Order: sequence, then structure tokens, then C-alpha cells
Amino acid sequence: MLKTLMASKDFLALTLACPDGFEQPESMILAGHTRISIEATGILRIEPLAEDNGKDIILSSGVHGNETAPIELCNSLIRRILNEDIRVKHRVLFLFGNPPAIFNGTRIVDENLNRLFSGEHSQAPGLINPERHRAKLLEQHVEAFYLSAPGGDATDSPIARQRLHYDLHTAIRGATYDKFAIYPFRHGRPYRRDQLCFLHSAGVNCVLFHHEPTTTFSYFSANEFGADAFTIELGKVFPMGQNDMSRFAAMDRQLTRLITDDALHLPEYDPSQFHLFRVSRSVVKQHDEFSFTFANDVKNFTAFARGSVLGYDGENPIVVEAEQEAIVFPNAKVPIGQRTLLCLVPEPAPEVM
Ligand SMILES: [Zn+2]
Repeated sequence: MLKTLMASKDFLALTLACPDGFEQPESMILAGHTRISIEATGILRIEPLAEDNGKDIILSSGVHGNETAPIELCNSLIRRILNEDIRVKHRVLFLFGNPPAIFNGTRIVDENLNRLFSGEHSQAPGLINPERHRAKLLEQHVEAFYLSAPGGDATDSPIARQRLHYDLHTAIRGATYDKFAIYPFRHGRPYRRDQLCFLHSAGVNCVLFHHEPTTTFSYFSANEFGADAFTIELGKVFPMGQNDMSRFAAMDRQLTRLITDDALHLPEYDPSQFHLFRVSRSVVKQHDEFSFTFANDVKNFTAFARGSVLGYDGENPIVVEAEQEAIVFPNAKVPIGQRTLLCLVPEPAPEVM
């Protein structure tokens, strides 16, 4: 497996050649300084042998199989590492989230993988489909990666190392703010200035602060391992190979610096340079008969004034109660009991540390 990888330097191609599984984990040393380990299908761990600079970085993509740009971006970082064009200074775990869906070019196979973390995969009806198995496996590899770092299994809190997890996505629809990040619920802890500055430097100047625990991948890493973790949306979905990668140049540059530099030098935090929102509510679908009043192609972050009717859940109108609410991720087709819409209000001055 590693022989094939080192010949092609193409971890995505290797992953898609056997989307349903590798036989064994395999490991090798690259150029005497970096350990390369294929842990499982779509899971590649890269660790510097000599230095250890105290960061454990997870970069995941393809949790939704048709969100191709982040997959291409991560595959290109991997290629440059394997080619020895760049050399990592920190431990890095690359995850292709949902290989069978990437193989099919579809968002999901049976179920939305990004609703199955924090143990949701094993809740009734249990491990009945590929996404549920994959969520469980990804959780195990995240845990193993963070805890196997030098000093990573120490139970003292806070941990001495910095744990990061950037879960990279692209959105189904266009957005007023093309790139945005979701900051998982912090259980009352302030937001991290350095993380907001990193996102800004990577071209992401719009951030949603989530208001409750979720079953997303980023919340899992943040909540269970104290990671600075984000769901990052990088613009609209295009088929594999049809992305204009120049749109992701800032993210590519900053991720490269993150994994190859000792420390990042970022500008001072200035909230006026961001569009910051908090989730005012999450609309959960209650009835089969469900529709939005706005057009299918309405952009994420479109704002509606108080009193506007956003849609109908069965007979019940969904009415804007704040002075203004912006909408994000509307999806009328989700199953009953799942989130069909997030509503946002501005949060111009969040508490930061
Ligand atoms: Zn996605």
C-alpha cells in the first residue's frame, strides 16, 4: 500500500482504489525525518521524528463526499509532503471522511455522516449503515491520534499540547459570505482570538457561534479532546477537478504554514474585520409536509425582517421573531426530527480570550 502511495504520491487515488477498506495499517520513514502511516482507508498520519513542536493537527475533508475542493486541497498538501517539497513540524492526521461517497460523487451513501458523532452512530437503530461505521472509526482514530502524542494521555487539564481540527467543507448553495466557519458550542468558555485570526488569515472572515451541543465532527473533537475545532465552509460545491483552486489560495497557504512552521505570526484580533453571528435557533422539522417560502437558490446569510414567514412546518408558520434573522443551511428534505434551518443574529462583540 505504501509502495503504491510513494509511487503515485496520490492518497486520494489510493483511497478511491479501495474505498471499502485496506487490510492492514502500514508505516514507513520518509527521508529519515518523517513517519508516514496509513492507518486505515482515507486515514493518513504524518509525524516528524526529531522535533516535536506541541501541536496535533487534524485536517478532515470529504465528510460529505461531493464536497470536492477541500479533498483536492488536502490531497495536494499530502502530495507536497510525500514529494519532500514541504516538511511537517507538527503531528498531522489527514482524514478523508466518507470514501464510498467520494467514490460515488455523492454527499452521502445512506445518512449524513456529520450528524453521527459523539456516539450518535451507535444510538438506535445502531450501526446499520456505512456512515455509522465510519463515524465510529473516525472517532477512534481522532482519539488515538490525540492521546498517543507525547504527554497526550495525561489526565491533567488543561493539556499542555495544542489540539486543532479543521473540518473542511463546501456548501450546497451560494452565500453572501462565500467562506465561513462554524465555531462549535463552547459551554460558556470564551472564543479564542488566535483561532479567529487564523481563520481570517486563511480567507474566512465570517463565523457562526453555535448555541448548543451538536453531533458534528468538529464539536466531537472540541468537546471530548479540548481541540480548537471548526467546521469550515469554503464556498460552493463543484465536481472533482472543476474547482478553481485559486479561490482557496489563502487557506492553502495558511494550512501549509500551520503544519510546516514552528509558530504562526498572525495580526492582532480586530472584530470589525469579521462578520460574526450567533445561532438564534435551530429549526427542527416536525412534519412530512414542509416547505420554505423563499426560493431554492436563496443565498446563505440572506436576512429577513421581523414578522416574515420563512416556511411552513405542516400547518405551522415559521416566523422571524428577532428584529432580523439571517438564514443558513435551509434544507426542506431532511428527515423528520432533523435540523432543517439555522437562524442567525449578529454577534458583533463576542467574549474572546
Ligand atoms: Zn459539508
